[in-house]
Amino acid sequence: MTTDPQSLFVHALLDEHNGGNPIIIDESLLSDYDSKVKLQPCQWNGCTMHLALEHKHVAKHLQQRHGINTSATSEETQKISCLWMGCSHVQMKPGNAARHVLSTHLEIKWICLTCRKEYTREDAFRRHTQEKVACQSARTVVSYGDGVREIDTGCINGGWSAGQNVLCIP
Ligand SMILES: [Zn+2]
Ligand SMILES: [Zn+2]
Ligand SMILES: [Zn+2]
Repeated sequence: MTTDPQSLFVHALLDEHNGGNPIIIDESLLSDYDSKVKLQPCQWNGCTMHLALEHKHVAKHLQQRHGINTSATSEETQKISCLWMGCSHVQMKPGNAARHVLSTHLEIKWICLTCRKEYTREDAFRRHTQEKVACQSARTVVSYGDGVREIDTGCINGGWSAGQNVLCIP
């Protein structure tokens, strides 16, 4: 996936510096996040990149890197198969792919600290805090799956960071 010469060069540098397995991210993350961002490996169809754990980024990544039309949700839209590693039988509308990946594969949950209810979708959690009076000013924790890691995009210069073992690709 890292085919342009600049990326290949940096990839080799990072390999030498850190002993391999750089964290490869979409360059657009740098403009979307100006400090800490949580990541997990994308395992869609052999992908070697990392995903930022937010719906808008997962949707963008699936669209740009995997050719999925993530705004297609209408009745007539043909369903696609989930190509995430180990998820062979799930059929979904392309427009629901990002949500499926976030809740099923990245295991993100919103937890209401007032009543301890857990939600896999942020919109459902928001509805909960609006509808249940006691939870209206609830504090939330967002719980992430096991492989989560955090990088600081503010420390990435020129598209890569040796200290964090991160490489951005355009
Ligand atoms: Zn991917
Ligand atoms: Zn799946
Ligand atoms: Zn609650």
